[in-house]
Amino acid sequence: MSRFLSRALAGLKPYVPGEQPQDKKYIKLNTNESPYPPAKGVAEATYGQAEKLNLYSDPDCLLIKRAAAAVCGLGTGNVSVGNGSDEVLAHIFRAFLQDTGVAFPDVTYGFYPVLCSLLGIKYKTVPLRGDFSIDVSDYEGIDSAVCIANPNAQTGVYLAPEKVEELVLQNRGRLVIVDEAYIDFGGSSAVPLVKKYDNLIVVQTMSKSRSLAGARVGFAFASKQLISDIEAVRCSFNPYNVNRMSMYAAAMSLEQDEYFRSCVDKIVFARVYTATKLGKMGFEVLPSRANFLLARHSGVGGEELYEKLKERGILVRHFGDERIKDFVRVSVGTRAQMDEFLNAVQKILEERDAEG
Ligand SMILES: *Cc1c(COP(=O)(O)O)cnc(C)c1O
Repeated sequence: MSRFLSRALAGLKPYVPGEQPQDKKYIKLNTNESPYPPAKGVAEATYGQAEKLNLYSDPDCLLIKRAAAAVCGLGTGNVSVGNGSDEVLAHIFRAFLQDTGVAFPDVTYGFYPVLCSLLGIKYKTVPLRGDFSIDVSDYEGIDSAVCIANPNAQTGVYLAPEKVEELVLQNRGRLVIVDEAYIDFGGSSAVPLVKKYDNLIVVQTMSKSRSLAGARVGFAFASKQLISDIEAVRCSFNPYNVNRMSMYAAAMSLEQDEYFRSCVDKIVFARVYTATKLGKMGFEVLPSRANFLLARHSGVGGEELYEKLKERGILVRHFGDERIKDFVRVSVGTRAQMDEFLNAVQKILEERDAEG
């Protein structure tokens, strides 16, 4: 820490993203990326724009606003676009949460508390139930804003849209943010509810189901009034926040519905397959509607399993948080990758049995 760092930031603990190691080739099942390449035409669209990089990108992001709005039946005035949904979340937190504070589950996306400490926002955590589900009645009486990920980060556990609506209706004077980074892998989106409720913001990303993690494109969907506030923050910070190449890559991707669906179907199939196999090996696997599984085994700790898989060239994610420290989180890759992962897990368990 230098002696110049702002005092308010002295205790800042930045978000720790999953490893992106450059030393050797791993089977990467640690950051919930898609194992499939971006849709056809995305690369060409990107190169095409690379030749125009002398020009700024469109500060209104109209190309993707139109495409995204069309996909979910809203108008361009109901959409804000960011450099990844992480940035969209930052705009939202900055715009709305300073006065009210925010509540979110004790096990969820680790970026929420980090953003709060960066922006000086008060937050409190609400424990998930014993089965790692969100019980919306636990939010009754909370008058700060509420932020949930659905399906939830780290667990994959899903909350039905009726329950999301209940959360929104509990207190119409309270803002509810629903982060749907994983919604395409088997959930039903709350986006249609933004037409009905002016205290709901839904956040989505192209990083997971659209195979564009490296492009950094995310969205907020909400009423025109909320979006205009988010846009005011965005344009006060970086009006050219989405670069020209990513904008065209995203727009091209949003047109390719069939490819998108086929990738999602394959991932969902591999998820169900992997969960079944892990169950047969004695793992407890949380019911996931995302592109990852959170699983634990009574015979091997989460950290140990993570280390032993890494030695075998397979990266998964381990979190030290008390409630999930026995688990590993495994992103769902191709069926072939999942078979390699399952074989490695089998061998690790056998070795342990032999030792034990
Ligand atoms: C991955 C993830 C994000 C961030 O996505 P980007 O669009 O890549 O910034 C946001 N929220 C949750 C819950 C995530 O898992």
